[in-house]
Amino acid sequence: MIIDIHGHYTTEPAALHTFRDKQLAGLADSARKPTTTDLGISDETLIQSVQPQVKFQTERGSDLTIFSPRAGGMAHHVGTEAISRQWSTLCNDLIHRICTLLPDNFAPVGQLPQFPGVSPKNCIPELERIVNELGFVGVNLNPDPSGGMWTDPPLIDRHWYPIYEKLCELDVPAMIHVSSSCNPNFHHTGAHYINGDTTAFMQLIQGNLFKDFPTLRFVIPHGGGAVPFHWGRYRGLAQDMKKPTLHEHLLKNVFFDTCVYHLPGVELLTKVIPIDNILFASEMVGAVRGIDPNTGHYFDDTKRYVDQVKSLSEGDRYKIFEGNARRVYPRLDALLSKRGKPGKKT
Ligand SMILES: [Zn+2]
Repeated sequence: MIIDIHGHYTTEPAALHTFRDKQLAGLADSARKPTTTDLGISDETLIQSVQPQVKFQTERGSDLTIFSPRAGGMAHHVGTEAISRQWSTLCNDLIHRICTLLPDNFAPVGQLPQFPGVSPKNCIPELERIVNELGFVGVNLNPDPSGGMWTDPPLIDRHWYPIYEKLCELDVPAMIHVSSSCNPNFHHTGAHYINGDTTAFMQLIQGNLFKDFPTLRFVIPHGGGAVPFHWGRYRGLAQDMKKPTLHEHLLKNVFFDTCVYHLPGVELLTKVIPIDNILFASEMVGAVRGIDPNTGHYFDDTKRYVDQVKSLSEGDRYKIFEGNARRVYPRLDALLSKRGKPGKKT
């Protein structure tokens, strides 16, 4: 089976946006607050709303998408901590409903009610709720809840430790994923995302986080930002800092996805990063929506690139498309095994 570990709910019904507008308008004028958190979205509307994703799964040949709320929509920097909590709960509940309605197509990953300057410890109740009560298999962790201002401490700081302890206890991975950018210097998906990925990896080099949390697992999306392309720089910096090799220092805990939108990029990724650390993903529908005139195919049809990498063995392909996802997301593996779809031994 082919598991796409990175998809967001970018095709939400208008009722969700209307709620968000009212929620934020209510900050300035309490009379404009939404009067209910019942969005009035029917199951039928939810199923209809994800037909673009289902269509791409069928056309491109992937089976299951690990599905989370729209990353840009998390917007942790907007409003207040209470607003972030209400918004996260609502978005996670919609993901839960979709994954319950279409369990063969989607598996749930959540967003956390982060807020800049506030301890991530406050996210633990929502993390426990979505994993223990709703069966989520992972979570998105925003390394910069300020939305492009980077005002919170780096990921290796003890500030983050309470949420790491809980991630380890629950045995769920975190995708390190920024949200929208309120800094006009950083285009949202073109710069802020890729900066976030690269920055997170460099922060991890600078610390010794996985000494404290040997079972903590992070997925760095978008192919790891600039990291694979600059692997020599990062190896060299680690060496200068008297850190162990990157393999020993980070690669038992850090994984990269294949959201890289051209063949040479995916070739480089698979050449530089160990196969055990690469997970198939496309981030459809959303980051780049168009068709590449050079190939005639959608930029985000990343399966085509992986299929075309000649150096990969069948075993490698199994790991990238399925095996690694089951290892990094053990709750997904358990869910699939329970449904009579166990993985292969690798
Ligand atoms: Zn994403």
